[in-house]
Amino acid sequence: MKEILRELLELQDVDTRRGGVRARLSVFPKRIAELNQRLEASRAVLEQSRQSHSTTLKDRKRYELDVEQWKEKVRKYKDQAFQVKTNEAYKALQHEVEMAEAEIAKAEDRLLEQMVSGEQYDRQVKAAEKSFKQAEEQIGAERKEIESEKAAADKELGELEAERANVVKSIPEDLLDHYQRIAKKHGGTAIAEVRGEACSACGARIRPHVFQILRREDTSELYHCELCTRILYYIEPPAGAETAKQASASQNGEG
Ligand SMILES: [Zn+2]
Repeated sequence: MKEILRELLELQDVDTRRGGVRARLSVFPKRIAELNQRLEASRAVLEQSRQSHSTTLKDRKRYELDVEQWKEKVRKYKDQAFQVKTNEAYKALQHEVEMAEAEIAKAEDRLLEQMVSGEQYDRQVKAAEKSFKQAEEQIGAERKEIESEKAAADKELGELEAERANVVKSIPEDLLDHYQRIAKKHGGTAIAEVRGEACSACGARIRPHVFQILRREDTSELYHCELCTRILYYIEPPAGAETAKQASASQNGEG
């Protein structure tokens, strides 16, 4: 095999590993976003229960005030009752007192209900606080793990970029452009091995005279698959492996 093909193969190998690391890196933002969503959902439950709790506290204050106001009215009516001159006026005030006392009873009932549900909301807030704390811890641990995985992948990518820069040095710029164009079209793979006189990537047959040229060590030109346009290379099987090679080639028509 020609030296330049060896270099392209080396590049292909680095690019394949680099593609794998990049694919791994590309899912990290989604994983972090999912963690944030889970945390926010848990926080929303907590906020909701705090909100309900504070609403019941406000209602309670309002009902307490109601009770006080009706009691104040009762006191006023009773004071007035001492000053009235007629029996009718006295009876009318007495009636007002009864009405006000009925209102006090109603307001006290509402207040009691409110206090009972207030205790429920109290418990809900405590439970929500507990589960938010647990979610925070759990998510924090997962975040740490994801971040350390990402740091490792970043490091690996950095190393692969350096390795690639080194490999690319010995490849002429126009050939590199050519390689990259083909790679872009085919999900990152620009090179295909010829096996059983066919392109191992797409299965297209290789013309016999091209195959003969590919077998020679001294060819100076690159040959492409006529169907998928990948750059072709051929590795001569070791002596004695020919029979096995042919047998396996006839089984593997696919790429
Ligand atoms: Zn092909």
